[in-house]
Amino acid sequence: MARIRAENLVKNYGSVKAVLGIEFDIADGEFVAILGPSGCGKSSTMRMIAGLEEISGGQILFDERPVNDIRARDRNVAMSFENYALYSPITIFENIAFPLRASGMNASDVNRRVHDIARKMELEPLLDQKPTGLSSGQAQRVSLARALVREPEVFLLDEPISHLDTRQRYRMRRFIKSIHQEFGYTMIYVTHDQEEALALADRVMVMSDGEIQQMGSAQEVYTRPANAFVAGFVGEPPINFLPFSADGDGIVIEGHRIEVPEAAKPRLKQIGASGRAGVRPHFMALGDNGGITLSGRGFVTEELQDHNEIFVDIGKTRISLIAAPSQRVSRGEDVTVSIDPIHLLLFPEGVEREFE
Ligand code: ADP
Ligand code: MG
Repeated sequence: MARIRAENLVKNYGSVKAVLGIEFDIADGEFVAILGPSGCGKSSTMRMIAGLEEISGGQILFDERPVNDIRARDRNVAMSFENYALYSPITIFENIAFPLRASGMNASDVNRRVHDIARKMELEPLLDQKPTGLSSGQAQRVSLARALVREPEVFLLDEPISHLDTRQRYRMRRFIKSIHQEFGYTMIYVTHDQEEALALADRVMVMSDGEIQQMGSAQEVYTRPANAFVAGFVGEPPINFLPFSADGDGIVIEGHRIEVPEAAKPRLKQIGASGRAGVRPHFMALGDNGGITLSGRGFVTEELQDHNEIFVDIGKTRISLIAAPSQRVSRGEDVTVSIDPIHLLLFPEGVEREFE
């Protein structure tokens, strides 16, 4: 296993600046997810760690040893991609055994290792079959087994399950998590799916436009996002942003003055005359809950099995909140919405971005 550190890591493709001098320190045995929208530099970062892409600037260190000039195959890194190329003329056993045979391992060790990993990946009953006819989830597991059979120091996964259907994805998520628990590899997992990142990783590295916006636990990036980008990218349904104007130690949202908590006052000073208040749908309620109350008009209610998602227009801003299945609004109805002030996040003004 290895600790992985990056110092001022840069990747340029000609004039395209893909990674803009990032720094991170991933502990031995840690599971980190790199999360961000398409094109933000996730795969470039991953491929530089793997040694598949030349580093344009800065360095990468494994256990404090620079690896910039070490070839991919000498880094003892396993990498699994979305695209699992299995060799169809040979059995699944031989597919998994391939990297071991290529390294010259003797037959009895190959046999032991392949059976060992196949048991852990629930593939033993399939070993004598050929890849044709496997489900996409099974094929993905064979591909993971083939990557892991070499017992790498570092295991890199780049969007390994984004092409699977929802059910298969859930199943594979559990596998990937159990691989980490069982083997204790340092694992880095690239995804654009925030739910996947939060569910799997010890820490999430949120990237956009070639830079790290925040690195922290799921809880940290969710409840204490470093900026409006992280606040908006992490969390489902997405966070609500309500425009405010500052008024002394308070903010005014749609004519309602709210005194901000003591801890948020320096932040309000920094932001200045106006900004956006972020509040997650889970931290808003329909009716007067004793917190901050705002009045609005009902838009629609979406009934989901164990809760309702309710949309309300507060002035010109449409917000959503999570409510009990018994609660609903009808269109145009006057409603009261409350917010727990503890969960109010303050951000400077900015333009909202659409995320996929
Ligand atoms: P992500 O994995 O987050 O989608 P990438 O690391 O693949 O992002 O890409 C980051 C940026 O670098 C994008 O603007 C992309 O178009 C560009 N890029 C990636 N690979 C190449 C390449 N081989 N040549 C030129 N530009 C590339
Ligand atoms: Mg990518």
